[in-house]
Amino acid sequence: MAQPNNTAGVDNTFRRKFDKEEYLQRAREREEKELEGRSKSKGPPVQRKPLKHRDYEVDLNSRLGKTQVVTPIAPLSQQAGYFCSVCECVVKDSANYLDHINGKKHQRALGMSMRVERASLEQVQQRFENLKKRKDPGTFTEQDLDDRILKQQQEEEEKKRQRRERKKEKKKEKAVEEEIEVDPDVAAMMGFGGFGSSKK
Ligand SMILES: [Zn+2]
Repeated sequence: MAQPNNTAGVDNTFRRKFDKEEYLQRAREREEKELEGRSKSKGPPVQRKPLKHRDYEVDLNSRLGKTQVVTPIAPLSQQAGYFCSVCECVVKDSANYLDHINGKKHQRALGMSMRVERASLEQVQQRFENLKKRKDPGTFTEQDLDDRILKQQQEEEEKKRQRRERKKEKKKEKAVEEEIEVDPDVAAMMGFGGFGSSKK
């Protein structure tokens, strides 16, 4: 049997056919919308400075071992954890605090983008020179070492002296407490009868 001769009217090319006019129209509409959106939101995009390294020490352990009363109504800066004054937020531990101050949100608040400036050859050479100078043993003399040892000894002695003074003060306080006369009846009731009188 011969094939029916009606292929002319059937789309058997499997290609999408585009109506150029229609899509041109759609593209124009989309562009207009985008333009509108841009002018509404911010205007020109904000130029941020490239990322810079920190020029300050991060203080992570100044509050280590200290006791602090925390209430939920206290201001954020006195809440438990690390407070970021730039973003006014509290981070719960040191690792997360470091993550925060290295993070996008914080750097943006400081006016920096996350992009790093590409170093030039000169900058790299300069850095190598600096590192070489730092490693040079000639810059560190015995005098420096002696000074350091002396300084450390002085610091240790100062600490010892403070400790001794604290002990003395405690002893004094105790002595004052013991001098306060205890009513023998009350003393007997509390189980240390004769405690005050034995000293007399
Ligand atoms: Zn922050």
